[in-house]
Amino acid sequence: MASTIVPAGTVVAKFGGSSVATADQVSKLGAIMRANARRAYLIVSAPGKRTRDDHKVTDLLYLCQAHARESIQFDHVFRLVRDRFREIVSGLRVGIDLEVLLDDAERGIIDRPQSPDFAASRGEFLMARILAAHFHWTFLDASSIICFQDDGRLDSERTYRALGSPELPATAVIPGFYGALPDGSIKTFSRGGSDITGAIVARGVHAALYENWTDVPGLLMADPSIVENPRPIARVTYGELRELAYSGATVLHDEAIFPVREARIPVNIRNTNDPDAPGTLIVAETEPAGNGTPITGIAGRRDFTVLEIRKALMNNELGFGQRVLSTLAAHGICYEHTPTGIDTMSLVISARQMEGKLPAVVDALQQACRPDSINILPDLALIAVVGRRMRDTPGIAGRLFGALGDAKVNIRMIDQGASETTIIIGVENADYHVATRAIYQAFCA
Ligand code: ASP
Repeated sequence: MASTIVPAGTVVAKFGGSSVATADQVSKLGAIMRANARRAYLIVSAPGKRTRDDHKVTDLLYLCQAHARESIQFDHVFRLVRDRFREIVSGLRVGIDLEVLLDDAERGIIDRPQSPDFAASRGEFLMARILAAHFHWTFLDASSIICFQDDGRLDSERTYRALGSPELPATAVIPGFYGALPDGSIKTFSRGGSDITGAIVARGVHAALYENWTDVPGLLMADPSIVENPRPIARVTYGELRELAYSGATVLHDEAIFPVREARIPVNIRNTNDPDAPGTLIVAETEPAGNGTPITGIAGRRDFTVLEIRKALMNNELGFGQRVLSTLAAHGICYEHTPTGIDTMSLVISARQMEGKLPAVVDALQQACRPDSINILPDLALIAVVGRRMRDTPGIAGRLFGALGDAKVNIRMIDQGASETTIIIGVENADYHVATRAIYQAFCA
């Protein structure tokens, strides 16, 4: 094969499950790919839901494997998978021997009853084969380029060597979500992992841009189920995205940001159903600001519990904080924040982490730290107000707390991360929506 130098300006385009859910959606994908010849590598998910009550192909495949594991017939479930792909192939009129591929996939699941990863991977595999046949693109199996170590972690060295190889085709369709272990067996990323495949390929081929095509207009400034019609975020830094994602905003798999961030490859979230819209561009720290407000976005989550530990002169007691945190670790509990006062240390923990463990943890803290008191404050919501420009804009906190005061929201906790990119506010669960709307109105409307 002729050696290939990936041209400067290569674009890696990943299309999610909604972009391949029907033949019509696949046609939109084809038009998008054809509109820009720089889109050289296409990463694809398995078909997602067509309607709210529909099944994702990946979920059906996991169900097939669960049957196979128990030696229960699953052809009635696999038939649903067959029907999804048949519908797409007949809608597109693709010249492909689909039945052979489907039979192979079903047989593979029967032969590997202990491998949910193999079963789940077939959705992406089949979809990529269909796209390759339909658009006359080269199919490149992810198992030949995405390499895992025996312990299940990505083998970066082998993966990036494969992606940097002169043998790599100049253009290809690559199934997302999975790769291979050293023994050749299939291993998947966690759910939604096609985003990670796209990011790794983008990094491996030194792409100029990683496009992530989905069914939303991009990252929004607030949760649309709380704020009516929030504005999309035009530009966000990788750091801000991490803060927003950590606090509840979802648009890209958490782990997908790292490969592109290290290589400073911008990520563009785009909408397959509105291909002319610019979407959201995720860029490195230095990129200039965009939307005229110091706030980039607002995200939040409900259901945190605060353990407020009081002890006079705790600041003089060597190792106090360490004993508190070791006690949590010994109970397998991760904490989110630890705001501290002179004689108090608060631990903000998601209520789910604490489920069934609260009495034992309080008891252990009493033993380890001998505090004056431990107060338990349940039902806290955390709202993160994120924006790298907040640091240089005076008066943000004043506006923020003014807006919450006007909305009669009682603020129970304030935590400003050391980065000054984020102000975190704790409010009652019951005030979460009102508070989010008030902040949006004050800064973004
Ligand atoms: N199909 C897989 C899932 O549903 C991976 C992906 O869509 O990214 O999780």
